[in-house]
Amino acid sequence: MPPPASAAQSDHRIDDKQRLRLRRLLLSVAVYLPCALMLLMVTWLGFLPRWFTPLWLAIFTVTNTVFYALIKSGLNLRLNDPSMTMAQMTVAIAAVAVILYHADAIRGGMLMLLLVILLFGVLRLTTVELLAMGALSSAAYALVIVLLTTRKPQQIEPSVEWTQWATLTATLAVMGPLVGYMSHVRRRLSESLRTIKDMAERDALTGAFNRHHMGEMLDREVSRCERGAPAFVLLLADIDHFKHINDSFGHLVGDLVLKRVAHAMREALRKGDYMARYGGEEFVLLIAANDLAESAVASERLRVQVERLRIPELGRHNITISIGGTVYRSGDTQSTLLGRADAALYRAKHSGRNRAECDTPLAE
Ligand code: GH3
Ligand code: MG
Ligand code: MG
Repeated sequence: MPPPASAAQSDHRIDDKQRLRLRRLLLSVAVYLPCALMLLMVTWLGFLPRWFTPLWLAIFTVTNTVFYALIKSGLNLRLNDPSMTMAQMTVAIAAVAVILYHADAIRGGMLMLLLVILLFGVLRLTTVELLAMGALSSAAYALVIVLLTTRKPQQIEPSVEWTQWATLTATLAVMGPLVGYMSHVRRRLSESLRTIKDMAERDALTGAFNRHHMGEMLDREVSRCERGAPAFVLLLADIDHFKHINDSFGHLVGDLVLKRVAHAMREALRKGDYMARYGGEEFVLLIAANDLAESAVASERLRVQVERLRIPELGRHNITISIGGTVYRSGDTQSTLLGRADAALYRAKHSGRNRAECDTPLAE
């Protein structure tokens, strides 16, 4: 997989994952709701004590709020499993065990809730983890039976309960690998989708976004500015005398230089900045800056970062870039922005290379 185009890109990936985790949590909350309605009905019919459902709902609200707060605050990222899938399933299994303890005559039916919990593992868990969750469900029911046998022996028929327990355990043992397989296929599919997406929008050599993606990104940025968002700066960076590198050291070294320069520029970018390979040895950078003064600082950082690069394959030969920059102006389109940056780049080349030029004086 190509590397992210900037630190901002890996931040985006984390944000996407956190959003997905929140969606999954909300999905599980949505599944709890019909359960709550069912519990209300069961309580109304007299199968559960009156105090049970409100208490269960209160505990459910508190635990899910804790999970929500952990994801929202980012504290979950410090955990071994930031998705907290097993933790959420364990809480759900404990909640069902409490229902089982009190459900008496309808205990058999309530066992189905444990199967629903296991199905949630399809979103994330491996077969081994699913089997562990199945074993936990089975152990929770066994504990309920043991507690009932010792505390409320008149309300329990142990042979029926243990037969139900054996059926549940066998069902969970079969479901574990099946759900695990589905989970595996789902993971492989999402990995493949990510690879396809990367291939469609990134340049294979440098890992930077490709020209097609840059076009879409630039259109999006222009639309944002038209709606009143802060302006941005577009930089066009071109490696100096790159043909000479190819001619003197060969195309393979030329390719290596392209990769190293792209990496160096990526390192010089800040969160929220964007880089794409425009073509050949040219790169487009979109910098979150309002004016050319800020842009000049960013250009200088990029220029110096590349100038400092040491590539052993080139011996004492240094690589430099020239940069043309422009800031968004009202009414701009993709081509007017690129046209101005290109004109500025042309001036940078003609003023001796290894320098940055802007399309208007900085004082303006
Ligand atoms: P200037 O300082 O004026 O930009 O000169 P230059 O030599 O960098 O510019 P020119 O446009 O003459 O040459 C660019 C070269 O980049 C020509 C082309 O062979 C080479 N090039 C384009 N894409 C690739 C690539 O993917 N790999 C390699 N190795 N070379 C490439
Ligand atoms: Mg060029
Ligand atoms: Mg060049």
